[in-house]
Amino acid sequence: MSKIYITEDVKNHKKGIEILEKIKNYKLIEDEKTFVKMIRDMKLTNEEEKQYMLFTTKKGNFLKNYYLDDNLSKIKEEFYLSYENNCPFNCLYCYLRDYFNHSAFIFYVNLEDMFIELDKFNKSGTMVSAGIVNDTLVHDNLTNVTSDLIGYFKDRPELILELRTKSHNIKNLLEITPPKNILISFTFSPQEVIDRYELGASSLRERIAAAKKLQEHGYSIGLRLDPMIDIEGSDTAYRGMVEEIFSVLDPTKIRDIGIGTIRYKKGLRQKVLAERNTDLFFNEFIVGIDGKERYFKKIRIDMYKNIVNSINKYGNFDIYLGMEPQYIWDEVFKGEVR
Ligand code: SF4
Repeated sequence: MSKIYITEDVKNHKKGIEILEKIKNYKLIEDEKTFVKMIRDMKLTNEEEKQYMLFTTKKGNFLKNYYLDDNLSKIKEEFYLSYENNCPFNCLYCYLRDYFNHSAFIFYVNLEDMFIELDKFNKSGTMVSAGIVNDTLVHDNLTNVTSDLIGYFKDRPELILELRTKSHNIKNLLEITPPKNILISFTFSPQEVIDRYELGASSLRERIAAAKKLQEHGYSIGLRLDPMIDIEGSDTAYRGMVEEIFSVLDPTKIRDIGIGTIRYKKGLRQKVLAERNTDLFFNEFIVGIDGKERYFKKIRIDMYKNIVNSINKYGNFDIYLGMEPQYIWDEVFKGEVR
């Protein structure tokens, strides 16, 4: 049975026609709401829902503004694009389990509307992220959306486009001459964390090799070491990962490094534990100002200091923390000129 669905109106859009040339076996469905209801009514597991795909058009905004509690320091990923929801990987900590009410993949083909919306966005110097509610590369063979995004942003040099991923599917990116304002960000985790909590995603070695090839092709790379997870021996595991990354990548072509520790809403923990036996949440957590659970302050600060010290051996990088209050920044970067 085909698990790919489309709405009739995708045939009216260039990207829709392009995608339909690649998928022959699909079913028609009335609209997104009907699709989501169908998924929910089937009472599938998270992994089963991920096998379903919908190609449709978006009626609302593509450009979103990340909500952040005023008590947390500003994040770089404040603006992000939502042309695609969910991804086939199964990271146990993925906040999208909670954010959307299903885990099926949805792609919106009316990209021209997204670009019209972006034409009106004129906050010069801003980073616009993709990969906050999706993985930007995992389905790129099918959608080739990276070429549309890069094609648009090459004429918007005052903005930075970040494409974030845990996939090594870089084939399409290598066919493009990279404009300077494109940043490909890989989330890196020690292989043990990938094996235990990032199910189905590319291995650490594959991600590093892909980032290296992109650097050689001329792209700037971002390192996203987020969410860090406090496995036993985590200091050694994260230090080893940093060494592995810097033994391969060119530090002069790393634009910035974002680090963060696991944080999630309580509902996520319950959903994950209802489905599988995992030790992901067995630690000392507190509820932060934003309502999300995160490790006790001391655990977080120790993890940050450990990884920042490891990174600092390889150069002077723009390192930032994800969703942390100023006092944590002050503690972690004490004595550093920033
Ligand atoms: S790769 Fe990103 S979007 Fe996909 S499951 Fe993992 S955290 Fe979620």
